[in-house]
Amino acid sequence: MKVAVLALQGAFIEHIHKLESLGVECLELRKKEDLDQQFNGLVLPGGESTVQGKLLKELDMFDILKEKIEHGLPVLATCAGLILLAKEIENQAENYFNSIDMVVKRNAYGRQLGSFRTIEEMKHIGQVPMTFIRAPYIDQVGDDVEVLATVDQKIIAVKSKNQLALAFHPELDDDLRIHQYFIDMIEKRNVHK
Ligand code: GLN
Repeated sequence: MKVAVLALQGAFIEHIHKLESLGVECLELRKKEDLDQQFNGLVLPGGESTVQGKLLKELDMFDILKEKIEHGLPVLATCAGLILLAKEIENQAENYFNSIDMVVKRNAYGRQLGSFRTIEEMKHIGQVPMTFIRAPYIDQVGDDVEVLATVDQKIIAVKSKNQLALAFHPELDDDLRIHQYFIDMIEKRNVHK
């Protein structure tokens, strides 16, 4: 199994460390040619969604990735990555992959709560530590979107078909269960293909 990690900007190295510690080979996506390689899953890391979206388009990687996501490539998206998947971003005209039927609010927590940690229940996994950094939350979801976790009544984790999207950063905590869950999603897809 090989997982591609978008490595244009942001917190990608931490995802690679987590996946490698679970025995998964990783491929860093930095330029269009990197997309010629075969891979079974995709990680969209945290960072700045506007910067990542701009670079994806400038480097001519956007359309290829969008097509792969639409064709069922398993995706783990955290924070800025979640924003890239949303159908609609509040107060922003531009969207990106538009592959999850949800409306997100960027930098949704006030200045004092810009960064915080908590432990909450996540469906299919249990109590997990959650680190939020200038995080978005999800304001609305469509019918085919499964809500996995909420914090203070705000949706912060969802699954939609092949995509797992989280407003927090599981790669920054000492817990491998979310990355393992993603690996399980990839394995299930390969069995059913
Ligand atoms: N604030 C960032 C954005 O809007 C997301 C922050 C993060 O990924 N930690 O894209």
